[in-house]
Amino acid sequence: MPLLPIRLFPDPVLRVECPEVTVFDDDLRQLAKDMVATMHAAPGVGLAAPQVGVSTRLAVVDVSGGEDASAIHVLVNPRIVEASGEELDSEGCLSIPDFTERVKRPTQIQVHAQALDGSSVELEAADFFARAICHEIDHLDGVLFVDHLRGLRRERARRFLKRMSRLQQAQEQAREQNRERAPQSQTDAAAGA
Ligand SMILES: [Zn+2]
Repeated sequence: MPLLPIRLFPDPVLRVECPEVTVFDDDLRQLAKDMVATMHAAPGVGLAAPQVGVSTRLAVVDVSGGEDASAIHVLVNPRIVEASGEELDSEGCLSIPDFTERVKRPTQIQVHAQALDGSSVELEAADFFARAICHEIDHLDGVLFVDHLRGLRRERARRFLKRMSRLQQAQEQAREQNRERAPQSQTDAAAGA
């Protein structure tokens, strides 16, 4: 099963408020399957569809990191119906590699979602599992964990993301230059042959 390229900040797809899934078909099941494989390979404990460039309300979570098949959760159209408690703990994101910061999240949540066949799923989650689900649901609303930061933590994130944006831009420019050069090198190769 193919691994999907993970979109990195500042890709605008990460800022889209995703529409609900309304069609529960083979394409959706394949996307979920590929997302689980991509999450495990990264490795990560959660992945949302916009992180692989698809604006739809689908997320996968596995806080066992691939150790326990029963820990894999595929959440379609998930929403938090109840939240309680509060904890400040470290968080990171596959779309913002090499940056972690402490974010406040509820410690207990109740989630309503759908399964891949469209049936209703009720889920209770606590602590790190709850944190992972909150993080992924945020992605479906175009929200990144750094958006929750305030004060000095926000400033640290802002500086990191600025550097990351510049790097992404430079890499994109290099890719474009390579594309422009490509026909030339083909000609060279033909001439050499
Ligand atoms: Zn993330």
